[in-house]
Amino acid sequence: MLVGVPKEIKNHEYRVGLTPASVNEIVQNGHSVIIEENAGIGSGFCNQEYLDVGASIVKSAKQVFSDAELIIKVKEPQPQECQMLNAGQALFTYLHLAPDRQQTQLLLESKATCIAYETVTDKQGSLPLLAPMSEVAGRMSIQAGAYHLQKAQGGLGVLLAGVPGVAPAKVVIIGGGVVGANAAKVAIGMGADVVIIDRALPRLRQLDVEFNGRLKTLYSNSQTIEDVVTQADLVIGAVLVPGAAAPKLVNHQLVKKMKAGSVLVDVAIDQGGCFATSKPTTHQDPTYVVDGVVHYCVANMPGGVARTSTFALNNATLPYVLALVNKGILPALQQDAFFLQGLNVYKGQLTNQAVALAHGMPY
Ligand code: NAD
Repeated sequence: MLVGVPKEIKNHEYRVGLTPASVNEIVQNGHSVIIEENAGIGSGFCNQEYLDVGASIVKSAKQVFSDAELIIKVKEPQPQECQMLNAGQALFTYLHLAPDRQQTQLLLESKATCIAYETVTDKQGSLPLLAPMSEVAGRMSIQAGAYHLQKAQGGLGVLLAGVPGVAPAKVVIIGGGVVGANAAKVAIGMGADVVIIDRALPRLRQLDVEFNGRLKTLYSNSQTIEDVVTQADLVIGAVLVPGAAAPKLVNHQLVKKMKAGSVLVDVAIDQGGCFATSKPTTHQDPTYVVDGVVHYCVANMPGGVARTSTFALNNATLPYVLALVNKGILPALQQDAFFLQGLNVYKGQLTNQAVALAHGMPY
């Protein structure tokens, strides 16, 4: 099979779909790979590293999209990329279709087979291809929050750890999944006072055991969220209802009640965000202020630490890529019910129930 990797074109996106090590595995399995010139540069891989493992370098994304049978990307295709896709092709990447009507429409029109990393599941019911980026974004959310709490960045002027004699900052994490647990790990490591909120009691029990008294767990309801968010210095939005738009758990009224200079980091922004006042931002211009509260809503946080993220993503995606190339696209999906969950668009039809519901479209 001919696999193609275009250079990512989303603002400040430096990750790349395949590392040279992954290309090597694909080539060793008897397949061919074309890489757009300089696609790996942002993650620290030069063209020669790809050539050395048997890939061909092509000059333009157009060439990748016209020749490849399987296209591997990182971020959702931008409109000009959707328009280059065709019915004979498969696309394997993050899609996040629920909050994105335009992309959904364009992918349906392309008639391509579109498999979303974020809806592939596993035996444990978790999301193995979302997890590595959630680990990165969770850890990074505290780093970003700590930075924007500084006075010069518009924040309260509070140090997460406090100092002897001065209390640490209060960090509230809404959603205790992969992002939430990784955010908690770093926040605790930096010495903050951490509360984590989830609506799944079994998850709260796990977190209680895992963190062994170093954080407080609270059950999610609107009263609890209001109580802790109004006291918080830093709030991390980390909820997920798989495939669906994120529930708005903090409304505008509640944002108005927060401390001026406190910081919101809405990691769930790629699913529409869990704060009513959230709107997507970029690494170039990551924050804006609503009612005195600093909002950080970067939709592709892991792109900021592209090299770490590219390795982490490839560790998770490579077995699935190898299944697609070795078995063929449809057999690979048909033989693995968990992988099949990743199929979002097929022959001009939506094949993911949550995405279809979000758009009021047939499924
Ligand atoms: P996850 O499934 O591991 O965890 C989500 C948690 O949210 C679960 O524990 C679930 O019980 C909880 N939850 C759902 N509804 C809730 C509610 N009403 N109240 C409280 N908790 C609730 O998901 P994850 O991997 O941690 O991802 C979280 C979000 O972060 C997703 O939207 C994901 O796409 C996003 N994400 C964004 C970036 C970025 O760059 N912005 C990067 C990675 C992940």
